Amino acid sequence: MRLSKYFLPLLKENPKEAEIASHRLMLRAAIIRQQAAGIYAWLPLGKRVLDKICTIIREEQDRAGAQEILMPTIQSADLWRESGRYEDYGKEMLRLADRQKREMLYGPTNEEMITDIFRSFVRSYKSLPLNLYQIQWKFRDEIRPRFGVMRSREFLMKDAYSFDSDEEGMRASYHRMFVSYLRIFARLGVPAIPMRADTGPIGGDLSHEFIILAETGESAVFCDKKYLSLPVPPANIDFADDKKLRHIVRQWTELYAATEEMHLETGAWAALPAGDRLAARGIEVGHIFSFGAKYSAPMGAVITGADGKNTPVLMGSYGIGPSRLVAAIIEASHDEQGIIWPRAIAPFSVGLITMKTGDKAGDALAESLYAELQQAGFDCLFDDSAERAGAKFAAMDLIGLPVQLIIGPRAAAQGEVEVKLRASGRREVLSAAAAVNFIKSFFA
Ligand code: ATP
Ligand code: MG
Repeated sequence: MRLSKYFLPLLKENPKEAEIASHRLMLRAAIIRQQAAGIYAWLPLGKRVLDKICTIIREEQDRAGAQEILMPTIQSADLWRESGRYEDYGKEMLRLADRQKREMLYGPTNEEMITDIFRSFVRSYKSLPLNLYQIQWKFRDEIRPRFGVMRSREFLMKDAYSFDSDEEGMRASYHRMFVSYLRIFARLGVPAIPMRADTGPIGGDLSHEFIILAETGESAVFCDKKYLSLPVPPANIDFADDKKLRHIVRQWTELYAATEEMHLETGAWAALPAGDRLAARGIEVGHIFSFGAKYSAPMGAVITGADGKNTPVLMGSYGIGPSRLVAAIIEASHDEQGIIWPRAIAPFSVGLITMKTGDKAGDALAESLYAELQQAGFDCLFDDSAERAGAKFAAMDLIGLPVQLIIGPRAAAQGEVEVKLRASGRREVLSAAAAVNFIKSFFA
């Protein structure tokens, strides 16, 4: 993509309303634009990041056996009366009436609707386990929307729902999603730590929040430092091997990890050697929860078991917030100059800059590198504008592409280009061919 044709309305000034780095950088780098309180438009650069995150989530959810569907954002109030949540949900729910004065709502979550879909088709344990997921916009009229898309009113959610006929199956479904989440966050380039979450009146141990560590996180978190070096299950992990998955989950849950709501200063935390204790702040980016028959019982989603008995199907739900993730990743990965995208989700892999537009050798080298990179399958943002070099450097650092190729007139005359890594700041002058090879191995 040529910057001269790209819609990238960068902001020069720091927006006054932005209190934290990610919000500031997302506005300045033209990733989002606020349209109303807690409601944002995604601009081209941001849409690319959001799509890359969703692609990774899809690949890993599919790998774990989940199947993608798409449910509507607008739901009928009657469905929510069946579960009893229509009254309970309170003011976070955006309620509306259609022209026939039917009560409708913009979905804050989809347990009721998925239970309705399930009960209308599935009757037998033989059709289970089943896991259906979607990536869809949600609306919650948060009392204090803040920090941009970190806590917005409209936000994107990946929500998966599992169905099983017995406890053991429900546990296995939970483990599959747990392991899938470990892989998702590792691939995104920001490891998230699973922390025991409150299960409320349902009880049990099948609820975890996935937390990204960042200074501006809303919650204080406490965990064993060993989490930072635990191995993540490989791509060829067998999602049909329940025993293996159980073992991985045990490994990832036996170490101490708790958000402030669940944290106890005594016991396991106190027993940890001081050097192993990590007290930090964290951002919740995912939440998985098995809740058994909570919705299926009142809504009559009943299946016939192998023994011929009818029982409510046992369910779990598994959320990730891709739009919040964009902000959380920036919180965890930025510096004074701007964003530092992990390479898997960077909007473009390479930023190409000519220092002096109009210089014949420089322009020719840039054009040939641009063509070659595109042919090799790399998305490249080519700053072909006539801006001065300093402004181009600042813009590239702000938008945080992993690799920058900088072409100055002197080096260009020798067929050379400067390669700069955004994360480390490392710079090296290479021949054009060596630079392309470097990029190939960097992203391999
Ligand atoms: P929180 O405690 O932060 O309000 P939650 O417990 O209400 O989150 P869930 O209902 O578990 O969140 O939703 C699943 C995921 O959706 C969360 O882990 C988060 O990534 C995302 N999410 C929830 N609320 C918001 C929001 N207001 N803005 C952006 N993302 C959100
Ligand atoms: Mg909430």
